[in-house]
Amino acid sequence: MSYPVSSSAVVKLNFRRAVFLTSASKLSQCPPDEGREVAFAGRSNAGKSSAINSLTSNKKLARTSKTPGRTQLINFFQIGDKQRLVDLPGYGFAKVPQAIKNEWNRQLEIYLRQRASLRGLILLMDIRHPMQIFDQQMLDWFLLAQMPVHILLTKSDKLKRGPAKSALLKLQDQLSSKSELVSAQLFSSLKHTGHEELSTVLTTWLCEPRTEGDSAASSAGHSPVGNAPK
Ligand code: GDP
Repeated sequence: MSYPVSSSAVVKLNFRRAVFLTSASKLSQCPPDEGREVAFAGRSNAGKSSAINSLTSNKKLARTSKTPGRTQLINFFQIGDKQRLVDLPGYGFAKVPQAIKNEWNRQLEIYLRQRASLRGLILLMDIRHPMQIFDQQMLDWFLLAQMPVHILLTKSDKLKRGPAKSALLKLQDQLSSKSELVSAQLFSSLKHTGHEELSTVLTTWLCEPRTEGDSAASSAGHSPVGNAPK
């Protein structure tokens, strides 16, 4: 699937309006499950905070998730009236004890499975190390639930233009056999590249009416129990 930059999305969301809404460590603490939201996930250090900050032109926005002891929380940012971005915890925090990781996996799974307002996943991967085990699990998990996934190959400035393009083509080739629901692009917070494409995807998911055949994880009836990324 590809998202042309000049999408038919009726409104262009103003991501600069994003403000921190709340943090949640379990589903019951999440904001009311209404409107629409898009989650951002990735291994820690993949460039997730930088991407959110860069998209919203707010250097401090995603810092909340970096506060020591708060890394287990899902952070919600309000954009429009009923639209939210959701910052899932970076994966691979070495310092978090296993028991807490297990509990977190459980809560994450409940969130992803039950959250009706969730419209899709932005999955961030460092362009130099794409499709690690966690990434593949997250991807498979979402696709199983018939949820769209858009991959950002982050820090694309770390590679020259040719190799960066090749990395994207290689990934797109890999993905083509998986599902129509997955797409990918290059992204660099540092160089501000790929923002328009990302904005188009987000606007489409957050604003456009659902098409027939769309289904949320909650309605797909697939339970990823036992398969949560470790
Ligand atoms: P997170 O753990 O996924 O939230 O990752 P961060 O956003 O904190 O970024 C991890 C590291 O990668 C930091 O040192 C960032 O400065 C760096 N980084 C993030 N985005 C980019 C980028 O687009 N280009 C380059 N060169 N470095 C980046």
